[in-house]
Amino acid sequence: MATIGFIGLGNMGGPMAINLVKAGHQVKGYDLDPSGLERHGAAGGTGAQSIADATRGADVVITMLPAGQHVQQVYTASDGIIAAAAAGALLIDCSTIDVATAREVASAAGGAGLHMVDAPVSGGTVGAEAATLTFMVGGSDEAFAAAQPVLAQMGKTIVHAGGAGNGQAAKICNNMILGVSMIGVSEAFVLAEKLGLDHQKLFDISSTASGQCWSLTTYCPVPGPVPTSPANRDYVPGFSTAMMMKDLLLAQDAATSNGAATPMGERAAELYQAFNDAGGSGKDFSGIVNYLRSNMEKP
Ligand code: NAD
Repeated sequence: MATIGFIGLGNMGGPMAINLVKAGHQVKGYDLDPSGLERHGAAGGTGAQSIADATRGADVVITMLPAGQHVQQVYTASDGIIAAAAAGALLIDCSTIDVATAREVASAAGGAGLHMVDAPVSGGTVGAEAATLTFMVGGSDEAFAAAQPVLAQMGKTIVHAGGAGNGQAAKICNNMILGVSMIGVSEAFVLAEKLGLDHQKLFDISSTASGQCWSLTTYCPVPGPVPTSPANRDYVPGFSTAMMMKDLLLAQDAATSNGAATPMGERAAELYQAFNDAGGSGKDFSGIVNYLRSNMEKP
């Protein structure tokens, strides 16, 4: 069993670290917020006093932090992970961040002789608790091979997406598809209402026709057709609009920096921003159907 440093014990990192404790590892957790440390201790984990304390002597160091600036700081500060890591330690960043920062930090780790992968996740807090996350992994073949067994104790699908940063690239491309497709499905339900076509009828037809997609058949934005979708519980997330905004803006930044044409992704980001500003921030992202119906009606 390994000694693992785990930094960032929030909504996602907390349960992920606990799954590693359950798998029998010694997990030294650290978070700026003492409540995360308390939950980690209560589940049998060890508390660290600092980032360096969590990192020193660890075989593997995992981070689950809010955004790129936190990852940059936690890895590259003079008292950060890269400075404190033991020779041969494996570094795994599971946060969702911009591709450029992921590549910079991986390069700094490589310069210090350390293997690193970016391994952002999908599956949300339910997947984090149930150890059923999907990991999209960027890094060398050797680093991926070392990370795979550790990630398998927190998730069930682990995909090697290519070199450093490609895990983040896969994550933001996937979530741009999701943001665009959820708006498309929502627009179809709003139009169907105007045309006198039942939600259930549209669902039954489109779910077996060419409109079929995950936003329709697994996460249907109107109540009824898919009982497990957030639409049936007043759009309690699930995956919040604020999180969708974060990922769409990361995709737009990447598109701008790399000269990619993403007009639908750009429009999706504008619409989610409008929904977010109109009070949708804490709602599930599928609640955009209500914003479209109420705020964008044609005269
Ligand atoms: P969170 O805010 O609940 O947790 C982040 C934790 O990092 C907090 O506890 C915070 O105190 C800690 N932290 C910040 N800076 C730190 C530092 N310098 N040292 C130590 N700890 C520090 O966020 P979350 O929901 O767990 O999300 C984490 C990441 O996972 C984000 O990048 C998010 O985009 C991604 N993600 C979240 C979900 C989800 O459903 N919540 C799904 C997929 C991906």
